[in-house]
Amino acid sequence: MNPRRISKPIQIGKVTIGGNAPIVVQSMTKTDTRDVMSTIHQIKELEESGCELVRIAVPDAEAAQAISSIKRGVSLPIIADIHFDYRLALMALEAGADGLRLNPGNIGEPEKVKAVVQAAKERDIPIRIGVNAGSLPKTANPQLTIARQTVEAALQQIKLLESLDFGLIKVSLKAFDVPTTIEAYQDIAQKIPYPLHIGITESGLPRTGIIRSAVGIGTLLYLGIGDTIRVSLTAHPREEVIAAYEILKSLDLRQHGPILVSCPSCGRAEVDIVKLAHAVEEELIKIDKPIKVAVMGCVVNGPGEAKDADVGIACGKGKAVLFKKGKKIGVVEEKDFLTALMAEVERF
Ligand code: SF4
Repeated sequence: MNPRRISKPIQIGKVTIGGNAPIVVQSMTKTDTRDVMSTIHQIKELEESGCELVRIAVPDAEAAQAISSIKRGVSLPIIADIHFDYRLALMALEAGADGLRLNPGNIGEPEKVKAVVQAAKERDIPIRIGVNAGSLPKTANPQLTIARQTVEAALQQIKLLESLDFGLIKVSLKAFDVPTTIEAYQDIAQKIPYPLHIGITESGLPRTGIIRSAVGIGTLLYLGIGDTIRVSLTAHPREEVIAAYEILKSLDLRQHGPILVSCPSCGRAEVDIVKLAHAVEEELIKIDKPIKVAVMGCVVNGPGEAKDADVGIACGKGKAVLFKKGKKIGVVEEKDFLTALMAEVERF
């Protein structure tokens, strides 16, 4: 795994992004921002699942004004997502947004961008320049690859902010296509000092979206690129946070709750491992500690195959062996498989 690219850290509310700070998990609400109570409720759900930063859509003045009420009801930093109308960015800042996400290219005249940057600077509020491959500026050179066009668009916008003496910048270059996204981030990572927000945009429903995101985000993180991640899914945003942590845990970049190791089952299994693994997963959701738990389908191979698990169960006909770090610690009856394993997890 490549060493992490060290970027110039920025602060969004209480959360540091970049430098040596842990890679931050973020998501976006799917409520109507003007519906303050529903938005607060969803942000709290996100916080409970471990989300560290929340972005909310700001499509109009009412949504921008709602930010101050939303902020009073939550503790996570709020990033206002703005398109086209610079006045909404000014209102969001006035209402207490901790960060802005905008595409200076669609804000229009330099004077409008300047007004937003000035207001952000006065409050030390960072701006994420978010370029999407699907909405590249008309000035983009079609002779270049999409990845290159995306990078060029971001560099132009960074230059504009830098010319206004503004450096609290974070950048994202998203595309649906995974190789394009990886290529674009690899390119820009060498060209700018700013932290990078990474993700695969519009990646779809959970079954495929999680895989696309894991391949894209996981590859970039393995290359040492990325300071904050968002998994975009057509699902409740809580699913995005769970998937984001699974990606980070897979690369040993963050610890967050238990890890479930379960064997795929095979002709040697004498119990329904799929059912047991699902039941264990349901129980583990309630647990915070970073513990590795194994559910294995046979006594002969199970403990050995999962010897790096903290605790585990290897099932045989009517009985199972409980083990810790690959060493047998007891035998339990089939009716007690779940409760005995969970008792061991609690004790660990
Ligand atoms: Fe098969 Fe046993 Fe391995 Fe599970 S642990 S896949 S049942 S050999």
